[in-house]
Amino acid sequence: MTNNVIEVHQITKHYGLVRAVDGLDLAVESGQVFGLIGHNGAGKSTLFRMMLGLVPATSGEIRIDGWPVRGEEFRRIRRHLGYLPENVVFYDNLSGLETLAFFARLKGVDHGECGPLLERVGLSDAANRRVKGYSKGMRQRLGFAQALLGKPRLLFLDEPTTGLDPEGIREFYRILREMKNEGATIILTSHILSEIQERVDRLAIMKTGKIQAIGTVQSLREEMALPLWFELRLADGAEAELRRVVAALDGAEVNVDGERITVHCQRESKMAVVQALAALDGRVIDVHIREPSLEDVFLGYSG
Ligand code: ATP
Repeated sequence: MTNNVIEVHQITKHYGLVRAVDGLDLAVESGQVFGLIGHNGAGKSTLFRMMLGLVPATSGEIRIDGWPVRGEEFRRIRRHLGYLPENVVFYDNLSGLETLAFFARLKGVDHGECGPLLERVGLSDAANRRVKGYSKGMRQRLGFAQALLGKPRLLFLDEPTTGLDPEGIREFYRILREMKNEGATIILTSHILSEIQERVDRLAIMKTGKIQAIGTVQSLREEMALPLWFELRLADGAEAELRRVVAALDGAEVNVDGERITVHCQRESKMAVVQALAALDGRVIDVHIREPSLEDVFLGYSG
């Protein structure tokens, strides 16, 4: 018995000669925040639309909660899905509240959810203003509120933080954490890798319609075997001593760029570097250990 909410098996989507998704397998476990990253045109949105049953696959199978997408039973499952598309389109002449009420009717959700949801996404002051006058970030917030209607157990969010200000982004991820704590599974795409690297449980890197790599940020880092580095502040005149102890280690080297002194090393040499620095006996005043970012990992896989 698996705990997978989403199971994708050998899924393919062709648009003419374009293989938007090309024989892709994927499983997403219940209760996770799962990130999907990849270049423009990698096939992320197409995969989302197939998982939601909005476009048919050319071949392969997708199951949500064990049920085939586009099957009879999927209509019932669909009520528990929330979707924020990449480009949300609203009727400009409706207010935010009217817009949400409209979507609530479509989804068969109680109208009473609309006010509190607008409050939750920080739009209660603008609830009665026409959407025509909303900023990009306000539209995005309204789209998010729409996706949250009916307390979905599975949320698909396609570039959800586009246009949000820093406070909005933080607030957005706070709401996601709440949803996760309430048992929801969340799958999201983003191009802002620094933003998602601390916030997803697992992620997949997509390239030309295929999954290039999948795992936790840490496991992908380790697979890529990218070096990490120590940023150091040394006592006056300690540089020569540093060079001497580091030279004795395999797979580590000192770099000096003006005031900036770093030691780069492979992961397996990390503890040896720590010990060598400790042995410098107070000549190291401060140290920061820097791990390769998700962006470094992504460029390593997809570059
Ligand atoms: P982005 O990061 O730019 O949003 P993406 O990873 O979401 O990109 P998709 O939008 O899924 O990528 O597009 C994948 C490929 O499929 C692209 O080459 C795109 O041009 C093509 N494609 C997507 N939808 C259609 C369509 N309706 N008709 C024809 N081609 C399409």
